[in-house]
Amino acid sequence: MTRAFNFSAGPATLPEPVLRQAQEEMLEWNGAGASIVEISHRSAEFMAVAQQAETDLRTLLGISNDYAVLFLAGGATTQQALLPLNFAAPGQRVDHVVSGHWGKTAIKQARPYVDVNIAATGEADGFHDIPPRASWQLSSDAAYVHITANETIHGVEFRDNPDVGDVPLIADFSSSIASEPIDISRYGVIYAGAQKNLGPVGISVVIIRRDLLERSGQPRADIFDYRSHAARDSMLNTPPTWNWYLAGLMFKWMLAQGGVEEFARRSAAKSARIYAAIDGSGGFYRNEVAVAVRSRMNIPFFLPSDELDARFVSEAKAAGLLALKGHKAVGGIRASLYNAMPLAGAEALATFMRDFQQRHG
Ligand code: PMP
Repeated sequence: MTRAFNFSAGPATLPEPVLRQAQEEMLEWNGAGASIVEISHRSAEFMAVAQQAETDLRTLLGISNDYAVLFLAGGATTQQALLPLNFAAPGQRVDHVVSGHWGKTAIKQARPYVDVNIAATGEADGFHDIPPRASWQLSSDAAYVHITANETIHGVEFRDNPDVGDVPLIADFSSSIASEPIDISRYGVIYAGAQKNLGPVGISVVIIRRDLLERSGQPRADIFDYRSHAARDSMLNTPPTWNWYLAGLMFKWMLAQGGVEEFARRSAAKSARIYAAIDGSGGFYRNEVAVAVRSRMNIPFFLPSDELDARFVSEAKAAGLLALKGHKAVGGIRASLYNAMPLAGAEALATFMRDFQQRHG
């Protein structure tokens, strides 16, 4: 068996030790006489797995007890619809800062429920930069401010925690959570679909400052109510047990590797390799993002023609470097460098880039 270096943007590569442990435990989990996916979510065995996962995530990210941590079925898009339902009154003003495709998705999901003010957007310049904080037109009466910490498609990443005063800051950290320390106290809500840095698709992590759970929000079914999920430890209904278990294995792996400080070091090193190959190519490879907000997680770049883009993707695949085709919204190439991608993977890609340029440049 040969596992290639997989640069998929999500569902994304997972660490081999995590996959091996899951494989070993697939038939029988820890003497339970059944696998973890075949037993009740309310069994003592699964409850212990679930609680351990929460404890480990709290340790990994430094989440205090002022915040609830929810493990919910579904992806980040679902949370984008639940945010206005839970944290804003019907038709209330909410502020969104848009730095790429996923920021636009968040608006689309919120619009049926609230009055969305686009406080700033980088769309006019193709999302190559994050609008500076001084240019944001925040509302005086907004229920919250929403940002996307890392734009997975456009490859722009906030490199600071913007100050929005007393209004809760809500951030989509789907594609950068656990890649560096986060000052959680700067945020009202942090949410992330798991399928990049936290494990398998199908589960999301939502970290909510507890006072926000007291907001009445708007009429909604119990299953769309964060407060109900928090009150029932994310077991209001049957949770995605397999995904929760696998995410728990990921948290343990990340802690054993040295935690988020170590992943910050690795992310800086990995992304530097790719940006160096781009910047040193004399214009053969182009990344159009402002240097100060270049993403460490997702690096989009372009070759001189669509033909060369396609050739790059297919030759890379043959060389064991998978899933480098850019998202259809922007085209080109995209290399995703999540926590499970080793430095050797980034180095192999950088070497391939130089070699490809020599052959086709
Ligand atoms: N936000 C970001 C930053 C994303 O990268 C994605 C998915 N790639 C989403 C939201 C949507 O997530 P999902 O498909 O899990 O709903």
